[in-house]
Amino acid sequence: MAEISLLGVPHDDNSSFLKGPAEAPPAIRRELHSDAYSIWSETGVDLGDRFIDCGDVDFASAADPWDAITEAAGRAMDQGQPLIVLGGDHAITHPVMRAVRRRHARLTILHFDAHPDIYDAYQGNPRSHASPFARIMEERLTDRLIQVGLRALNEHHRAQFKRFGVETIEMGRCNGPLDLKLTTPVYISLDLDGLDPAHAPGVSHREPGGLMPRQVIDWIHGIEQPIIGADIVEYNPRCDVAGMTATVAAKLVKEIAGMMVRTRA
Ligand code: MN
Ligand code: MN
Repeated sequence: MAEISLLGVPHDDNSSFLKGPAEAPPAIRRELHSDAYSIWSETGVDLGDRFIDCGDVDFASAADPWDAITEAAGRAMDQGQPLIVLGGDHAITHPVMRAVRRRHARLTILHFDAHPDIYDAYQGNPRSHASPFARIMEERLTDRLIQVGLRALNEHHRAQFKRFGVETIEMGRCNGPLDLKLTTPVYISLDLDGLDPAHAPGVSHREPGGLMPRQVIDWIHGIEQPIIGADIVEYNPRCDVAGMTATVAAKLVKEIAGMMVRTRA
């Protein structure tokens, strides 16, 4: 039986505005395992016994938290593949990708977000949650980067897109199916602020005019290449309303996991 590793990364030291995403992993796990919901994906996969929960990254003894994340993600992938990471803020995607890339020579990152997170540095911090994709592209940790749902761009971002060859589908072009022409295994990096804050208010940077959960789920269901990893990041329980964003996050975990099983065969 195909199994999926789960790894929590409770880390928000590089959030530029608010803390809180470090508290996300247990809140998402609680919703994922709640008896209130079916553990079957919409695509007909029973996820009841599929998850190998590797717990949360332990930062207590780590000289560099980035090394701790890379090592934990690598261990989790060696236990079972694919891997779903529960953030944490978006900065953590960089050290996760270092582990993913070592195991996948051909790779496309499909990145849902209101923001491109590709600042050369933000507030002087090259590890900012506004910068992980600059580091990922510099280190060539993916062959393609496709960013979907963007709606907070400036001139520096557009210069970075050109510099790194980033493919973008800005929010205004997010109608209908996505024609991505995927030819490699896929890693999904899902920042919950890509969704409209009406559906996902529990984020540090609400950006109105965003994606509906239904759109993102339909696009994920349309992926035919193997989905080898994913992260769900930027859930901030301190900003949530009645836990609704944790419910959305758990729903997305289930639909991604269901497609990981279906695209693996
Ligand atoms: Mn964002
Ligand atoms: Mn982000």
